Amino acid sequence: MAIIVHLLELVKMVLWTYAILCNTFEKCENTTKRLEITEYLVTLFVKVIELTPDGLLELLYMCINKLGPDYEGLELGIGESLLMKAVAQSTGRDMKQLKSDYVKCGDLGTVAKNSKGSQKTLFKPKALTVPHVFRTLKEIAIITGNSAQSKKIDKIKGLLVACQDEEAKFIIRHLEGKLRIGLAEQTVLSALAQAVVFSNKDNSKLSTLKKEELLASAVETVKYVYNQLPTYDVIIPALLKYPIEELLEHCTMHPGVPLKPMLAHPTKSLTEVLDRFENNTFTCEFKYDGERAQIHRHEDGTISVYSRNSENMSVRYPDILNAVDKWVKPSTTSFILDCEAVAWDKEEGKILPFQVLSTRKRKDVKEEEITVRVALFAFDCLYLNGKSLIREPLQKRREKLYESFQETENEFYFAKHMDSNNIEDIQTFLDVSIANYCEGLMVKSFDGSEATYEPSKRSRNWLKVKKDYLTGIGDSMDLVVIGAFYGRGKRTSVYGAFLLACYDPETEEYQTICKLGTGFSDENLQMFYDTLKDHVIEKPKRFYCLGENAVKPDIWFEPVQVWEVKCADLSVSPRYMAGVGRVDPSKGISLRFPRFIRVREDKDPESATTSEQVSEFYFNQANLQGNNHQNGKNMDYY
Ligand code: ATP
Repeated sequence: MAIIVHLLELVKMVLWTYAILCNTFEKCENTTKRLEITEYLVTLFVKVIELTPDGLLELLYMCINKLGPDYEGLELGIGESLLMKAVAQSTGRDMKQLKSDYVKCGDLGTVAKNSKGSQKTLFKPKALTVPHVFRTLKEIAIITGNSAQSKKIDKIKGLLVACQDEEAKFIIRHLEGKLRIGLAEQTVLSALAQAVVFSNKDNSKLSTLKKEELLASAVETVKYVYNQLPTYDVIIPALLKYPIEELLEHCTMHPGVPLKPMLAHPTKSLTEVLDRFENNTFTCEFKYDGERAQIHRHEDGTISVYSRNSENMSVRYPDILNAVDKWVKPSTTSFILDCEAVAWDKEEGKILPFQVLSTRKRKDVKEEEITVRVALFAFDCLYLNGKSLIREPLQKRREKLYESFQETENEFYFAKHMDSNNIEDIQTFLDVSIANYCEGLMVKSFDGSEATYEPSKRSRNWLKVKKDYLTGIGDSMDLVVIGAFYGRGKRTSVYGAFLLACYDPETEEYQTICKLGTGFSDENLQMFYDTLKDHVIEKPKRFYCLGENAVKPDIWFEPVQVWEVKCADLSVSPRYMAGVGRVDPSKGISLRFPRFIRVREDKDPESATTSEQVSEFYFNQANLQGNNHQNGKNMDYY
């Protein structure tokens, strides 16, 4: 018996080692097949659930490379030069050599691993464990203030010195902020659900068909629960404690945990809207042009404001926090509201353009110093007095919104709506929205099962109609800046043009889409130079998809900024890679006549327009023009 206990302890210790996790990462990196990646993860999770369930939460965070829920705002993403210093100091190699290796290989993780490999050590270091690495990464992320850089370097060196085999490669990638080995969050969620099913011994007796059904429903449950309560801190303990069928009862949404917002599909015409909603009831609302704000009032009265990205923005909006009591009716206790915060002219009582909102201070905001005021326009009520409303139809949710809150001048308004199905009425409402400084309309399914709130989904039950884009491709795109070209003439001291990319969440790559040199003011160009020069990298990241005939900028950047860009239309091009494989096996889609609109401060690079969206725009355009892409009319061969 004693021997068995001892053996079990040994197995547990091995399971805790970081090497086991790296081994799984390595296998995932060596395949592109999602099913295989899921299988590797399931195998690891099952072992952990069976032997060391207490470690599952940390292990999961390491797999998605996060340090906690998004709204806690603790992030990695250490700059290249600091990481290089740490690698140089811990391996005794000089920076010049390291830089040249990096330029050759393109992956700092691999450079770190190889540098360790060439190093002679007298003693084998003690094995790194998952909890130790996780804790240290968290410590590194929270270091601020005086000599933060050198403190961070010391901690990183501590980890690197103890690394063996592949470990240094993944430590560096954790620190860079992204593993990029195919462990997209949806894959991890699916593996987690399956592992819970497999680790329940009773399920092994089920027929294959029953088991498949059970696996599919477990995956659906876990993903559903995560969308409305995106925090593993609650979900993992509940998964370990209760049967999966009961998960929803123990993980209900509540104030303090922001839901992933529901998103809309772009449309190019009102007839497209009518076609989509034929036979359904729908409602039109003004589409306000500001910043999305999810307002939470917790059971204890605390108010929090969250962004589109689930970032806690409460300190940025003391004016919102202080006005809440005025617009909440006395019978209303806790709630979650979906709103748009818009710049507001108090004297004139009218909305101001988005450009004004973007000049509002984002840090250390004191109410008495606020110069750009905001008004809230509430368009949905997702939770009220202790109960979730997201499965109720919009009609019911709107009733609750009107019953439980009241408009207060200059602070809180209900989004204007109009419920007629007549195209002329809709056209008039669209014109009125524009006259009222809005972007256009949101058209939403109003009643029945298609009118529920679908967290995180870009749903066809919400359509956006932007007046400005009715003549273009239907919407603007939000693209990531990955490179720049030196300026000429008036622009010699700044970057003159930029290389932009969209994001493919399946391959975790940024795919090039256009060169952009129009739409900037002189101030814009100076500001981009000042902010982006700190993110210059030696060579394109290994996850930049450039293609063989790539447009090559003079300078490369880390993916840090998202810009909204408008274009005339889209074409297939051998020089850009957006959506490669979706329209053509080796060519991508590119924007024609792109024009800079604004910086999207509220979007991180991974929330940029996806390659799937880009190809949808392309196909819609091809359908509308009545020409199929294969006939070559939309091809660019320059
Ligand atoms: P997406 O959210 O589709 O990626 P985006 O962030 O670029 O796109 P838009 O294309 O402008 O935003 O459209 C959706 C946004 O419109 C919402 O996220 C919300 O902030 C804003 N909005 C304004 N009015 C409404 C409304 N009445 N209903 C829903 N959203 C609205």
